[in-house]
Amino acid sequence: MTDTNTNYVNGAWVSASTDETIEVRNPADASEVVARYQQSGSEDANEAAEAAAAAEDEWANTPGPERGRILRKAGTILANRKDELTEQLVAEEGKARPEAAGEVQRAIDIFHYFSGKAADLGGTVKSSSSRDTTLYTRKEPVGVAALITPWNYPIAIPAWKLAPALAAGNTVVLKPASVAPGPAVALAEALDEAGLPDGVLNVVTGPGSDVASTFVEHDAVDAVSFTGSSQVGEMVYDQATDQGKRVQTELGGKNPTLVGASADPEEAAEIVANGGFGTTGQSCTACSRAVVHEDVYDEFVDALVAEAESIDIGPGLEAEMGPQVSQSELDSTLEYIDIAREEGATLAAGGDTPEGESLGDGYFMEPTVFTDVDNDMRIAQEEVFGPVIAVIEVSDFDEGLEVANDVEYGLSASVVTDDHTEANRFLDEAEAGVVKVNEKTTGLELHVPFGGFKRSSSETWREQGDEGLEFYTIEKTVYDNY
Ligand code: NAD
Repeated sequence: MTDTNTNYVNGAWVSASTDETIEVRNPADASEVVARYQQSGSEDANEAAEAAAAAEDEWANTPGPERGRILRKAGTILANRKDELTEQLVAEEGKARPEAAGEVQRAIDIFHYFSGKAADLGGTVKSSSSRDTTLYTRKEPVGVAALITPWNYPIAIPAWKLAPALAAGNTVVLKPASVAPGPAVALAEALDEAGLPDGVLNVVTGPGSDVASTFVEHDAVDAVSFTGSSQVGEMVYDQATDQGKRVQTELGGKNPTLVGASADPEEAAEIVANGGFGTTGQSCTACSRAVVHEDVYDEFVDALVAEAESIDIGPGLEAEMGPQVSQSELDSTLEYIDIAREEGATLAAGGDTPEGESLGDGYFMEPTVFTDVDNDMRIAQEEVFGPVIAVIEVSDFDEGLEVANDVEYGLSASVVTDDHTEANRFLDEAEAGVVKVNEKTTGLELHVPFGGFKRSSSETWREQGDEGLEFYTIEKTVYDNY
């Protein structure tokens, strides 16, 4: 019998008022139910928001180093559970074991990183125009933060919102995605065990349109941090700003790698394949467009097809590339394959679900390469969120830059080149929040800011690093003349 997990509200593990549960199935074998969670409703969300509001003052007044100690201890608890959490992540989300282990480690590192920051929060002292006045700034918590997270990094993303929010003294309501909520619940377990006071964190599982939407509307909630699709995120942004709330949205991507004439085509293909097929293409920073100079185009395509065909597909615990997360995500990828064919792109590799005994009931998808892609095609403009790379040929670097930028998204972008001038021009002119030279579009360091341009982000706030704390703090300017 599969365990049924409960919500975490006001320091207690409680069932939803609806008496309904969500079933999470193994994406590598849909016949297996791996866990059940509460299918909560707005009543549960309201209770959580009220608990967070009630805990606000005590947590805000807890000294930063003490808040930091709880975060550090929770990080260590997560580290002690690393293997188990890695397997839970694979069972719910499906990614390959090394990717899942890396993600769990990232969550541990984030907790440790922000545990130090909790003690460091400060302002600046300035010289006052008045002789007797001490003039300085100080940072205070914003209040109650609502965190709404997607399924594709089900432990790292909740961790990179939660750790700075708590470090800065905010209380939190968290709504993880319903296809893989387990890792977010595990963060609550670790913080509870580490001694987090009741009500400081509240985790409620259930439908976004009900639970998350109630958080966004709730009077007690002061700030909303959302990561997910542009479609939902833009709605959440409007809803939150209408209520006068601080809001941060991290959304979709259509990330290019520009391959210059001087690039080694095989090296470039490896970089593009790692960026596009890693995590089964289900990263917001995944490379989904290779924009390739005509001089290296044919060799690059051959090498990319070879990369695609060499990938071992199977259950995440064993294989190099796991399944897509759900039937609807797989269906959506297959629909884009049809669209690309109808638009005239050439299918050079993959394009279907793979066959094999171990793949029977899983949402597996072949790594797919389309060539002869025109940048106006939907396959070059819309986020596919599966292991699909569109290759676009260009005749010079300027055209390549123009094509790379000619999308409504701007999350991550990379260039592969041996030409220093081209590399510098790309860094200057690429319209993306993360730009890289001779590296894949995926992969982020935790101590530098992350966020996108254009439709990829609300642009006003960044996540991670020192900048990640800004969203969760409000500045007060003090004129102190006794
Ligand atoms: P999604 O937008 O479907 O869901 C994200 C979260 O929003 C979930 O918790 C969901 O339950 C909730 N939600 C759904 N309807 C809602 C509503 N009406 N009001 C409030 N919340 C609601 O996204 P997903 O499918 O979980 O994740 C994949 C998407 O996330 C991709 O587009 C990907 O690019 C994006 N993503 C972006 C980043 C980034 O940092 N830019 C990182 C990871 C994923």
